Amino acid sequence: MALIWLDGELRDADSARVSVFDHGLTVGDGVFETIKTEEGRPFALTRHLDRLAVSAAGLGLPAPDLDDVRRACAAVVKALPLPLGRLRVTYTGGVGPLGSDRGQAPPTLVVAHVEGARLPESTAAITVPWPRNERGALSGLKTTSYAENVIALARARQAAASEALFGNTAGHLCEGTGSNVFVVIDGELHTPPLSSGCLAGVTRALVVEWSGAKETELPLGVLREADEIFLTSTARDVQAVRRVDDRELPGAPGPVTAEALRVFRERSAADIDP
Ligand code: PLP
Repeated sequence: MALIWLDGELRDADSARVSVFDHGLTVGDGVFETIKTEEGRPFALTRHLDRLAVSAAGLGLPAPDLDDVRRACAAVVKALPLPLGRLRVTYTGGVGPLGSDRGQAPPTLVVAHVEGARLPESTAAITVPWPRNERGALSGLKTTSYAENVIALARARQAAASEALFGNTAGHLCEGTGSNVFVVIDGELHTPPLSSGCLAGVTRALVVEWSGAKETELPLGVLREADEIFLTSTARDVQAVRRVDDRELPGAPGPVTAEALRVFRERSAADIDP
């Protein structure tokens, strides 16, 4: 079941229509956010909306009206209350001309509220055999040009894993297709810096803030040596990695991961941006 906000109106999923010429569809000229809702309360909404604006600016899209997006989020959540949901906000270049004339046609804003799922406490991952370009135009932006992630995720599924981890062109650890990555070395928690090309994950930022993780350039090979590894994202919260490629990490979640998860659960239960 899903409920959609489109063109300023609430619709059910079957009657919501976007043009087949929308640039979000034809060339991936769009940005998006996935926001967790619990008992009708969006989690860290302001951080997500700020990132939507950053991604839109990176693509040269007209700045989204964040009050409008906020109203749309409130309307779909109110109309479809769910114990655990996901707000999917998509904002695209619409159907106008591409390139220098863009922005003359109104952008498309779609906000959907769909059911969420709780994921298992540990998972398997693979490494991706090609690099993420940390200097590329899309680096660090949450755009609808996610085909590279989709290809990598398909490889993960073939290997009975749920995530694929990228290194960057410098051979440093970067991020997953839809998650950030943390490693424990000698009892200390580290995560790649934003300069690695990773997305500024909302969950990542909170774990750095709440668990004091260090932002460190790490060689991709750290995945073969780290004592513990975990992933963070809106869907996963903090999720331990129990296998990377053919390396097993028995006992995952280890003590540092378990503590990061405990702290995340405790602190995020308080009202962050109600
Ligand atoms: N990295 C990528 C490429 C993502 O798409 C996502 C989320 O979808 C993340 C990291 C994690 O970000 P967040 O914690 O804000 O969900």
